[in-house]
Amino acid sequence: MRFVSTLALGALIFAMQTFSQTPAQLAEIWDKEHVTNKLPSNLRHQDLKLYLDGLLKLGLKVNEVGRSNANREIYQIEWGKGPLKIFLWSQMHGDEPTATSALIDMFTVLEKNRDQEWAKRIAEKVTIRAVPMLNPDGAEVFIRRNLQGIDINRDALDLKTPEGRLLKQLRDSWQPEIGFNLHNQQALTAAGQTDKQAAISFLVVYGDEAKTPSDGHERNKRIVAAMIQALNQFIPGHIARYDDEWTPTAFGDNFSKWGTPVILIETGGLHGKDEMYLVKMNFVAMMTALKVVADGTEKDFSPSNYEYLPSNSGRRLMNIVFRGGTVIDVATAAGAAADIGINLERRRAAFVAPAMVRAVGSISMRGLDEYDASNFHIVGRIQPIKPGNFAELLFYKRDRQIDWKVPDIEKEFPPDAILSLGKWIKGAGVVPKR
Ligand SMILES: [Zn+2]
Repeated sequence: MRFVSTLALGALIFAMQTFSQTPAQLAEIWDKEHVTNKLPSNLRHQDLKLYLDGLLKLGLKVNEVGRSNANREIYQIEWGKGPLKIFLWSQMHGDEPTATSALIDMFTVLEKNRDQEWAKRIAEKVTIRAVPMLNPDGAEVFIRRNLQGIDINRDALDLKTPEGRLLKQLRDSWQPEIGFNLHNQQALTAAGQTDKQAAISFLVVYGDEAKTPSDGHERNKRIVAAMIQALNQFIPGHIARYDDEWTPTAFGDNFSKWGTPVILIETGGLHGKDEMYLVKMNFVAMMTALKVVADGTEKDFSPSNYEYLPSNSGRRLMNIVFRGGTVIDVATAAGAAADIGINLERRRAAFVAPAMVRAVGSISMRGLDEYDASNFHIVGRIQPIKPGNFAELLFYKRDRQIDWKVPDIEKEFPPDAILSLGKWIKGAGVVPKR
């Protein structure tokens, strides 16, 4: 009996390893086998090189294919030996790092599992090449542009940047059938007319302004439909469609035009989850794409799954909103009821992100964190509390007697709670959440 159940368990484990391809199993593989250990926004070129050393040791092909403006090496990873050529590139915008880590984890898992049936099938069907961190100079200082101050993604025709020239050369010399252009979008982008962040947005990129359909474009829609179905198991409601506007100088649009139809993946934000969770979502999406292309099930997906995605929407979300507080103007000691909306600037995780007041008054946008400040007077350390100023806020319970005009109010009348740089540095929990 015991022998039999051991056998059954063994068979089950074998089956799981052989066909471990469901989204849940992909997520589990990532949990167990991912090697990226830094938050993507903290990753620099030196860290990428360490990751790539790891891939080399596993036996992957990793080649320097060019240099950035500041002479930093740009690498290409290759895996598989199949006829269908898939090309991916990440971080052409230096401050958009999530997919770089996902690519490292993807190649690690593919190579570690190369003897598994599912990985063999992918290797036989496709050859994958990827450039992680196309813009290492921008990544080094966490800015969008390259060292020349040029947005590489507007350089597809001018080719003034070494990074842009390299990207075009890698495409032209290899002529891949599918391209993946991997970015990050504003974390406060909403999925349609909802209060949900668009954690992942897709765009199947046309090759002309007239949006002429093609077989490759239709196939990419079905691949995206498969990725949506996979991600829906983890982040339902948080998947959206990126703005479909023809940008004549952008690489995605021109790749499609030149014969490599592109899928754009934009990673957004997801309140309450860290950057690594979004690495995992990228991993699940990309592995799903490889799976459905390799086993042919891509054909079973309907493009309408993609077409019915809600559109990316801006101006719906803020990081923090305080509702119904009384905002004190220290100069006059007058108070006025108002909501305060605060957004956090984008920074590396290791750096402090400034919190800025973005709106004061009646705010219709939703805060990812919402507080009921109706029992509080609010004073700005930076006066006055107005859009564009740092959100350094002191909270006083309404029933306290405060002389708002004293020179050092924080010392004379210690606040009940203080919000600084987007965090409670005193009195966390005093102002109730809504
Ligand atoms: Zn971008």
